[in-house]
Amino acid sequence: MPGWRHVYSGKVRDLYEPDLPSLGGAHPLGDVVLVVASDRVSAYDHVLAPGIPDKGVVLTQLSLWWFEQLSDLVPNHVVSTQVSAAPFDGLVPDVVAGRAMICRRLEMFPVECVARGYLTGSGLAEYRASGEVTGIPLPDGLVDGSRLPEPIFTPATKAEIGEHDENVPFSAVVERVGEAAASTLRDLTLAVYARAEEIARERGVVLADTKLEFGTDPVTGEVVLGDEVLTPDSSRFWPADQWQPGRAQPSFDKQFVRDWLTSPSSGWDRAGGGEPPALPADVVLRTRDRYLEAYERLTGAPLSRR
Ligand code: ATP
Ligand code: MG
Repeated sequence: MPGWRHVYSGKVRDLYEPDLPSLGGAHPLGDVVLVVASDRVSAYDHVLAPGIPDKGVVLTQLSLWWFEQLSDLVPNHVVSTQVSAAPFDGLVPDVVAGRAMICRRLEMFPVECVARGYLTGSGLAEYRASGEVTGIPLPDGLVDGSRLPEPIFTPATKAEIGEHDENVPFSAVVERVGEAAASTLRDLTLAVYARAEEIARERGVVLADTKLEFGTDPVTGEVVLGDEVLTPDSSRFWPADQWQPGRAQPSFDKQFVRDWLTSPSSGWDRAGGGEPPALPADVVLRTRDRYLEAYERLTGAPLSRR
């Protein structure tokens, strides 16, 4: 992609920065990065093969839709999604059209800002061990999928590649980023969750939990919502009509991938640490349908690229 320089790849996204010399010294939109969502899918901390067709477009278009729904609550990092076929103009190259956003470059807080309105996953595991999640005591008798008395902020520290994120108490966030920023992150996370939960509920979708990432804009100093938001990769979405606490909930995400990997038919020994086998075509197609359905149910419109 002429005009862009690759700087980082996570499990799903690739990050590029402007190649300033080839752009004539500066990017026309300021200090920006290009965030590109790929079709890669990960489960149990492994990137799997093959990818899920159109997943990158779904992640990007759904994030853009949510940023708009949240724009009165919190500023976001999106600057432009304008596509161009011309090299060296700093716009979104047409080879990644639909799955890329030009964003303000932020100094990311080293905190995964998680809000939970329902109990499952690592929150449930912690609760079973201690009755608390990240130091927040919860009532007795909750089960997998229980709705919490009120949404809670359960931060985690970002892990290096290949490591699990670690749930931490609020005090650990204060130690890392200071009292003022920690409070801001908590308040914004809970405000975003409340808004998104309400929107999802109107559409028959339970937003069980979500993970947000914020950064500071080095130019304005403001705290800005970055990364992807409220996608099936960062959030647990459950069909509301099938919600039934006391068991694992069906969900709009990689459920088929996880179910197949842990089933005898995959032949994969998860504990053995080896690479998982390639996904069968029907698992790929059903997973693709899940991502598309999440997009359509939430936004109320079929997927379109822009
Ligand atoms: P994982 O594979 O566990 O998700 P990751 O979060 O590092 O690891 P990705 O989510 O694929 O990988 O990559 C996105 C990266 O881009 C993240 O490190 C995120 O913090 C960073 N990022 C997102 N928005 C911005 C931004 N506006 N400015 C700078 N960095 C950003
Ligand atoms: Mg990430």
